[in-house]
Amino acid sequence: MKNRIETTCVQGGYTPGNGEPRQIPIIQSTTFKYDTSEDMAKLFDLEASGYFYTRLQNPTNDNVAAKICALEGGSAAMLTSSGQAASFYSVFNIASCGDHVVASSCIYGGSYNLFAVTMKRMGIEFTFINPDCSEEEFQAAFRPNTKAVFAETIANPALVVLDIEKFAKMAHKNGVPLIVDNTFATPVNCRPIEWGADIVIHSTTKYMDGHASGVGGCIVDSGKFDWTKYPEKFPGLCTPDHSYHGITYTEKFGLEGAFITKATAQLMRDLGSIQSPQNAFLLNLGLESLHVRMERHCANGQAVAEFLNSHDKIESVKYCGLKGDKYYDLAQKYLPKGSCGVVSFEIKGGRAAAEKFMKKLKLAIIATHVADAHTCVLHPASATHRQMTDAELYNCGISPSMIRFSCGIENADDIIADLAQALAD
Ligand SMILES: *Cc1c(COP(=O)(O)O)cnc(C)c1O
Repeated sequence: MKNRIETTCVQGGYTPGNGEPRQIPIIQSTTFKYDTSEDMAKLFDLEASGYFYTRLQNPTNDNVAAKICALEGGSAAMLTSSGQAASFYSVFNIASCGDHVVASSCIYGGSYNLFAVTMKRMGIEFTFINPDCSEEEFQAAFRPNTKAVFAETIANPALVVLDIEKFAKMAHKNGVPLIVDNTFATPVNCRPIEWGADIVIHSTTKYMDGHASGVGGCIVDSGKFDWTKYPEKFPGLCTPDHSYHGITYTEKFGLEGAFITKATAQLMRDLGSIQSPQNAFLLNLGLESLHVRMERHCANGQAVAEFLNSHDKIESVKYCGLKGDKYYDLAQKYLPKGSCGVVSFEIKGGRAAAEKFMKKLKLAIIATHVADAHTCVLHPASATHRQMTDAELYNCGISPSMIRFSCGIENADDIIADLAQALAD
């Protein structure tokens, strides 16, 4: 019997045997012991499955990855040390120097820098498209050397909701997979694979961990993209890997296992962005209550968005749960249970009014973070985008008075009372 998502949040990924620990054990060990060199050689040859060195695989991490895999409806998954590592590996696993990727322009700033600056230095070029563009404009971004399409379910911080079916259709028409960063929605509110996405990634640092305790990431493969239809486009998956005794990943591990095995055996081996077992344990504690917390984050987000929307000192509010929001209809389709707890808004009176408001907040703490149990708030113009002029801010979709407000799971009336007193004269 297939469990519902709430049950998978609590119990997925790990089933203890008779007399074994109820909670996932923390296997805090770098190495694993074998009786003979032959036993170990089989692991190095990927002939047998098992553990030999935590940089490649660790049982605690694998149990937690298996839970996230089940939550997303994937075929295989791996944890990474951060969301940034997950974004990087997901693309670098299939794109090399001389290749090209199409990405939504509405993505997390860290992903944008990784793609537009650092991966460009590796010879991988990105074309950024407006996610609301027409199919003709979308098609024009593809090149013969395009290897993937990348986008976010709910963009941080633009709060644009992705038309996942449109993106999947355009990617597949061009013979490449769609990679979706599902950090803000979480699989509780949206499972991109069900809408055609091929690979899903997460910054588990946000709602999944949920308590602002550990930085981490995850990659989930759907196992549905048929790499073998395009062997010349994806040689890393479809031709022998000489750094691994001539294994061809798609032949040896099938479509279900090829992508994640390659990312583990090659990228993790060589780049080593492994999550510590201790952090994986903490992440799993967060996952056990993810479904309960998301419900409260969304209820608080909706209440705060409605309060702000009717307040006379507020210029505008962005939240896809508000009727009249540009993304309301897409949210109804892809996020029927709710979106997330992040609301962005503009205060009347520009930068000065926003700074004054920020100073008066008491319950909402000022932090460069979003999406955890504690309500937190950021004024991009005086923090992350401080060096920019007002004109430069408008260019990247941020106004001087814009505030990003991340609703925690406290009492909604308390959060609203804090906003009300900070907006009062
Ligand atoms: C935070 C974030 C990332 C980066 O994750 P880290 O865990 O901070 O490395 C990637 N994507 C989105 C949508 C994020 O919010």
